Amino acid sequence: MHLQETSKLTPKIIARADHNISRSQISENALKVLYRLKNAGYAAYLVGGGVRDLLLGREPKDFDVATDARPEQIHALFRNCRIIGRRFRLAHVQFGREIIEVATFRAAHSAPVEQDPGHDNHGRILIDNTYGTLEQDAFRRDFTVNALYYDIRDFSVADYVGGVEDLGTGTLRLIGEPYTRYREDPVRMLRAVRFAAKLGFRMHADTSAPITALAPLLDDIPAARMFEEILKLFLYGFGLQAFESLRHFGLFGRLFPRTDAILNTEEQGFPHTFIAEALAGTDARVNAGKPVTPAFLFAALLWQPVRQRAMELETQGLHSGDAVRQAVDEVLPGQIKQVALPRRFSTPMIEIYQLQPRFTQREGKRPQRLMAHPRFRAAYDFLVLRAAAGELDPELAHWWTEIQTGDAAGLASPPAPHAGRRRRRKRRGRRATAPPT
Ligand code: ATP
Ligand code: MG
Repeated sequence: MHLQETSKLTPKIIARADHNISRSQISENALKVLYRLKNAGYAAYLVGGGVRDLLLGREPKDFDVATDARPEQIHALFRNCRIIGRRFRLAHVQFGREIIEVATFRAAHSAPVEQDPGHDNHGRILIDNTYGTLEQDAFRRDFTVNALYYDIRDFSVADYVGGVEDLGTGTLRLIGEPYTRYREDPVRMLRAVRFAAKLGFRMHADTSAPITALAPLLDDIPAARMFEEILKLFLYGFGLQAFESLRHFGLFGRLFPRTDAILNTEEQGFPHTFIAEALAGTDARVNAGKPVTPAFLFAALLWQPVRQRAMELETQGLHSGDAVRQAVDEVLPGQIKQVALPRRFSTPMIEIYQLQPRFTQREGKRPQRLMAHPRFRAAYDFLVLRAAAGELDPELAHWWTEIQTGDAAGLASPPAPHAGRRRRRKRRGRRATAPPT
């Protein structure tokens, strides 16, 4: 689409009285940014997920701002501001823990792909810093529901792409020609899955049609960006839905090829149950406001290939602990080419795996020692998951549950020659079983 030619579109304007967004729902910091830009004479809009979620009556995850001020001009207005990004330069204005992302209006690239240094030869956008007008900015966004602009001057919402109607019907629709838009940035396929799952929306037929054929384009996306997208897919309370959808579109195999291969050979069997249980559990934790970690998530997503390989190695005579370690060493290098996994997450992930064989050792002081391990809690949760999915005897997980909650198995009670000593021991035991903070 040649946007220069279509840039005289009139948007649909939804006046303040005709929508449900009130300033009290917008973070104070976002309002500060919007007003300071406006007072300096710039256009300033709230855009993206913030506007979308407020119009849906949901609580936004974060607030993004769009403006006609250039990054340097934004930088000059805010002391607490950093310019980030190469492919896409934008300003981060930081207020304590909250970051307001401020992006300058951009135009899509309109030159033919072959002559344009901003695209690679698959049509992927490599540089995206061509500044533009508000209209152009609307058309270069991904989905119609993500391209609504809340104007801080009069509190109206501007809609160039039919996003308000799509919000009303629960439709996720890519802006522009879908094949082109996915080729420009294949991550939009993951975003389509994510927003459909998160919002409970149906993808428009034109938006879903290209995905399966274009899924292989994800192989060229930098592994670090893929890692970020995976967290957004699986750690926000709709992971199970996202997983089923990724599988449906043939996207999951681009993220976790070895896990996907196992799922494909045992469609209805245990591996599928295991991952579904893991994601359902993670979703339940997120929705109850409990913390979740990428280490546990990746432990669950990579367990099938690791476990399968470890079992093979065990039949070749390796000790169970060593087999798990070697299986990880074989599975991880190929996996992190697709999706990065920072060491601060892979290290605890490996510990969760390595502690698993120790749960079968219940004699003497071994349970106490295992419970004192800093990774015990996560490893225990993983054991419970394996039991729930039918991988091992539920009795084993039950035993470990009991032993933490009391002296059910009689294991925690020491010989106790006199009361004072007994009390001390008990206290120490209890401390060791408390979940790590
Ligand atoms: P979330 O609720 O997850 O924050 P979001 O819609 O705000 O959802 P962000 O990733 O924060 O998503 O991006 C902010 C906005 O930037 C999007 O709403 C969209 O308008 C635009 N955008 C982000 N990524 C892309 C992309 N890959 N292609 C086109 N537009 C994009
Ligand atoms: Mg956002």
